[in-house]
Amino acid sequence: MPESHILPVYSPPEQIFVRGEGCWIWDDKGDKYLDCIAGIAVNALGHAAPVLQKALTEQAAKLWHTSNMFKVQGQEELAAKYVRDCFAEVVFFTNSGTEAIEGALKTARKYHTANNNPERVDIIGFQGSFHGRSYAAINASGNPSYLDGFGPRLPGYIQAPWGDLDAVKKLAGPTTAAVIIEPVQGEGGVRAVSDEYIRGLRKLADEMGFLLIFDEVQSGAGRTGKMWAHQWAGVTPDIMAVAKGVGGGFPMGAFMATKNAAKGMVKGVHGTTFGGNPLAMAVGNACYDELAKPALMEHVNKIANHLTQGLESLRDRHPDLVVAVTGRGLLRGLKLKIDPKPIQGVLRDRKVLVGVAGDNVLRLAPPLIIDEAQVSYAIDAIDAALTAQIVQASA
Ligand SMILES: *Cc1c(COP(=O)(O)O)cnc(C)c1O
Repeated sequence: MPESHILPVYSPPEQIFVRGEGCWIWDDKGDKYLDCIAGIAVNALGHAAPVLQKALTEQAAKLWHTSNMFKVQGQEELAAKYVRDCFAEVVFFTNSGTEAIEGALKTARKYHTANNNPERVDIIGFQGSFHGRSYAAINASGNPSYLDGFGPRLPGYIQAPWGDLDAVKKLAGPTTAAVIIEPVQGEGGVRAVSDEYIRGLRKLADEMGFLLIFDEVQSGAGRTGKMWAHQWAGVTPDIMAVAKGVGGGFPMGAFMATKNAAKGMVKGVHGTTFGGNPLAMAVGNACYDELAKPALMEHVNKIANHLTQGLESLRDRHPDLVVAVTGRGLLRGLKLKIDPKPIQGVLRDRKVLVGVAGDNVLRLAPPLIIDEAQVSYAIDAIDAALTAQIVQASA
């Protein structure tokens, strides 16, 4: 192995992937894998989706970048589509989920300043949450493994135990700016809060005068069978951050809000050079048009049922290894009694790519277009990997 010049913050396996098509991806040796993680819930339409290729290459031949000092073609159009389909009234485009979170948190604090309540600065997040790697994001999640060694924790960030409404009630007060929550925690272990809990948070926010922020970076873009996971609960946030699947593989995200919640975000207070550039808008529009097709969401709900059955059959077959089936739609976890990393490795050897998440969870987030045969293929491979684990453990 030649010496690596890449900052060693990751330890990826040896494969280098060079080509993809739909749910399949090929490495540089020509080996073919079933992709059940999709670049961490990003390649919603699968690899090299023809509609996205067309949007990207046509735009690439025309205009790449002008910055937001000029109006960017496609921004109004995409923002109007987002607004058409959810609670939001205004949209700001970013390059990543972290930046969307950063903007969402800034919007919340600025709202209270605009309302002459500048003392409302506290952000209440949840244990086990993940919001990205900027200082605001790591402080909002409060996870020591993201924070340690990076200087003092920022003031104004508090964490509540996951799913505990009373704890939020106790922590919230006259200095609370907002509560931020992932409707389905991704990195933290693919855990969905109940719809009832989401409704409880909404009620609390209204009663206590703080804003509600949903981080739908991983749970959104159709992944749970509705465009946004919170739509299952029938309540809306004041601000939402999105990314990952909305670009289908092109790096882009957004934060969006009601006009009221965004009242402090006036000329000059926020910005980005790259966010919402012509390439991102071409792909983002094409991707959203696909996500917004009712037939795709019908497919996600149907295939998610199939996946649920498969995962539950694994729990039934391997009660000594599988604790629970978690998550929602096509963002799913298999909570194990053991470290999921070796299982992930065995699956890779069997040519199936999966992720892991906190709390010993094997994570699945396949392209939304995955079909029944592919789900069965993945379930069979996991079954074999778990069986091999038992054989190995008893040897
Ligand atoms: C991935 C993720 C982020 C951060 O997005 P990046 O694009 O990696 O910056 C934020 N929140 C959640 C819930 C995520 O899953």
